[in-house]
Parts: sequence; C-alpha cells; structure tokens
Amino acid sequence: MKNGICPRCHHTQVYSSSRLRAETGNASFIPLSFLRSIALDNYVCTNCGYVESYVSEPEMLSRIADIWPHVEPPHGKNYKHLPKNQA
Ligand SMILES: [Zn+2]
Repeated sequence: MKNGICPRCHHTQVYSSSRLRAETGNASFIPLSFLRSIALDNYVCTNCGYVESYVSEPEMLSRIADIWPHVEPPHGKNYKHLPKNQA
C-alpha cells in the first residue's frame, strides 16, 4: 500500500494522510499505554475504499514490542520471513 498500489484491487489510486498529520497533528491514534497514544498514517484506495494504517513514528514500534503482549503465530518462527501485505 505504501508503494502506491492497493493490495486488494491492485489499482494505483492510493492516498496518504501522512502530510495532514505532519502539518496539523490530525490523525487516528491507537493507545500505547494508559498515558500515551500513537499516531497512525492512513492509506486509502479511492478505487475500492480499502484502508491500511501504519504507525507514523518508527521509534514507537520498539515501544509497542516492549509493552504489548506478543501474538504467537501457529508455527513460531517459520512465519517470520513471509512477505507482508499478503492479504
Ligand atoms: Zn483498492
């Protein structure tokens, strides 16, 4: 999706809210902890309406890994290197 191609319909009408967030602070948020929320950048396909959201600050990814419980895949590390966005 970040490459401008919709993973659902494969069209290229993909738009991102990242500039809106950077300029205005207006964004979707997910709670990191009781005290802190994390801003998301949304990517929308205007052909089919599909939306993907990404954590906007890369440094917050390690905070999530520190705080949130890990979700174990069915066969552990065998799934580690599968490509993302294979929905
Ligand atoms: Zn689409």
